This record gives sequence, structure tokens and C-alpha cells, in this order.
Amino acid sequence: MSTVYMDSNATSKVADEVIEEMAPYFGQLYGNPSSMHSFGGQVGKKIALARQRVASLLGCDPDEIIFTSCGTESDNTAIRGSLAMTADKRKIITTRVEHPAVLSTCRELEHHGYTIVEIGVDKHGRLNIDELKDSIDDDTAIVSVMYANNETGTVFPIGEIAEIVKSKGITFHTDAVQAIGKIPMDLAKSNIDLLSISGHKLHAPKGVGVLYVRKGTRLAPFMLGGHQESGRRGGTENVAGIIGLGKACQLAADDIKDENTRVKDLRDRLEEKILASCPDCMINGDVENRLPNTTNISFEFIEGEAILLMLDKFGICASSGSACTSGSLEPSHVLRAMGVPFTAAHGSIRFSLSRYNTQQEIDFVAEKLPDIVSTLRRLSPFVKTS
Ligand code: PLP
Repeated sequence: MSTVYMDSNATSKVADEVIEEMAPYFGQLYGNPSSMHSFGGQVGKKIALARQRVASLLGCDPDEIIFTSCGTESDNTAIRGSLAMTADKRKIITTRVEHPAVLSTCRELEHHGYTIVEIGVDKHGRLNIDELKDSIDDDTAIVSVMYANNETGTVFPIGEIAEIVKSKGITFHTDAVQAIGKIPMDLAKSNIDLLSISGHKLHAPKGVGVLYVRKGTRLAPFMLGGHQESGRRGGTENVAGIIGLGKACQLAADDIKDENTRVKDLRDRLEEKILASCPDCMINGDVENRLPNTTNISFEFIEGEAILLMLDKFGICASSGSACTSGSLEPSHVLRAMGVPFTAAHGSIRFSLSRYNTQQEIDFVAEKLPDIVSTLRRLSPFVKTS
């Protein structure tokens, strides 16, 4: 078997339809959409279509879409742009399990006099909503809570949270980078003010993202420059990337329910087979409220990186729940926030599927994994002491 790609939360395959839609905008229709001539103008029309397609997937108005370079830029713009408009307020509320695009931004702002409140999660990764409610006060400038967690797939009750935040008249931002295309959205009916997405998690290319800005939300531009994006984000547009993202949103909107049911069935099949054939395994995250494509499994007493290396020999791509910090492997901040025990957090693997995975691939991984796990456990110093 060739590559078995199960790391779509890291980045996803660019859809063939997306590549086809983008191709003319490199060598043929390379005009600048800001130009006065029609050669550039025709590109502007295609950007308008992409904006419409993104808006249609999100359930919002095309004018509420700002194209950015990535999810990280969208998150930075949402947080920093909101703070710039509420200079008298100094408190930011977020969670302990956000992606670094939000968490590092907030922690850096702490050095500039802001107070950061990071709401905790329970052992299933569920957010403490009461703690969030109690933290909101008159000094709060923005609340930023992710839609779905990139490591465990846990989906937060964003509708409920947005309503709580809105009732206090505070701006609400959500990082929906992992949720978009996997969960249906209707932003017009929600209380979300700002929402970030990224092209490369949705079968569009890297280097393009979106920030949804609800009409009336006060936001200062983060990237200053030309008058692109109606003066809300300077910089010549990534034309092909934007067109590709529009197409990817159209593809996602066309079959969001059917595709996600099929992917969820594959994910469940993989989980069932692994849990049945590998002892001492557990699923991390809220199994009741999870992205359909994600599973995060801890294999106790062995290291996730060793599992990854052995999977790699069979062409299988996944991720581990550890990050290299100062030369040593540390369990991820998400698993630590959930209180996952040391021996389990070190052996965690994330499989994240997409519409391109097949049942044959699931069965291939489920067949190879038990041998890998038992081989590593025979070598593990932790097994005897357990
Ligand atoms: N937010 C979440 C939840 C993510 O998973 C990621 C990427 O993994 C990002 C933000 C950053 O997106 P980008 O890679 O487009 O900057």
C-alpha cells in the first residue's frame, strides 16, 4: 500500500477540483484585481464569486468575509483588532486548550498589561462553562473560544457560549479552523462576532484563510497597506488561493452531511478495531461531542513517537500528542489540561481522516497497529511497574 494519510487536521490534500479551478490564475489570468484594466478586473469577479461561496458555507453575507493568509493571521487579527477598538478594557478570556495561534497571542498580550483568563477543561476535554460565565466582567474586551479542538476533536457548545458572551455585550471570537467543513454552520442565526478559518484544513491550499466579521463588529485592521478587502486587510490578494478556497467551500457545502457521516463511520470502525485488538488503550476527548474525522487514542506505557515511526514504515501518516520542548518530549498542553496521566499522554496518537480515506485503509492500519503496540510494550520500562 502506498501512503495512507490520516493526518488531515495537520493539513489536508488539495482537492483535484480546487487545483483545476486555481490553475488558470497562475500563468494565464495573472492580473491584479486592483488594476483598472479588464485583464485585472476579471480576476476581481472571480474573487467575488469565491467570497460568495465562502459566505454560503458559513451562512453569512459576502461582505462579512475578509480573506487573510492563514488561520493564524485570522486569529491574530480578531484578537488584536478587537483590543485596538476597546482600549479601556484589559481582560481577555480564552481556554487552556486553544491552538497556539490564540494562546501565544494572548500570552504575549499579557506583557502589554492585559489580564488573560484561561478557562479549564475536565478529563473529557469539556469546558467549564460556569467558570467562563463567572470570569466575564466590565473589564472584559473579548472572549475567544475554539469551535473544535485540533488534537482531540472535542467540539465546544459554541452557540451557548456565544449567547452568554453576547448577553454581556462583549465581542465573541471563535477559532473554527478545525470545524469548518466538518460541522454545518449558520452564522446569521448565531451570536458569533468573529470566526477564523484556514484553507489548508479544508482541501484548499496553504497560505489562505478567512476572518468572518459580523456587520457592526468594531475591528481595527491588523495588516496595514493598500485598500484591499475594503480597507480591512492590506496586501495584494492571494488570488489563486482565494479562488481555491471558494471552490473548497462549495465542495464542502454540497455534501457536508453525507461526507461527514461516511467519514465518521470510518473513524468509528478504526476506533472499534483498535480498542478491540490493543489492550490498555483509551480515547481522549469528549466522545459525545467530537469532530467526525478525529480520534485521539492513548496507548499506555509506550511513546507516541515510537508508534509514529513504526507506522511510517508502512506509509501510515498520523500525529502524536507530544511536542518537542527544549530538546525533550512533553505531552501536549491539551492533554495536560485534561489531566491525562503521564504514561497515557506520552503514548497518544491522533488519527484525523478526510473524505479521501477508504475502508481498506482503515483495515490496513487496524491490522498493523496491534503488532506495533505489543512490540513496543515488550521494550517499555513502564510496563512492569504498572
Ligand atoms: N487554529 C487551529 C485550531 C488549528 O488547528 C490551526 C492549525 O493547525 C490553526 C489555528 C492555524 O492555522 P494556519 O496553519 O492556517 O495558520
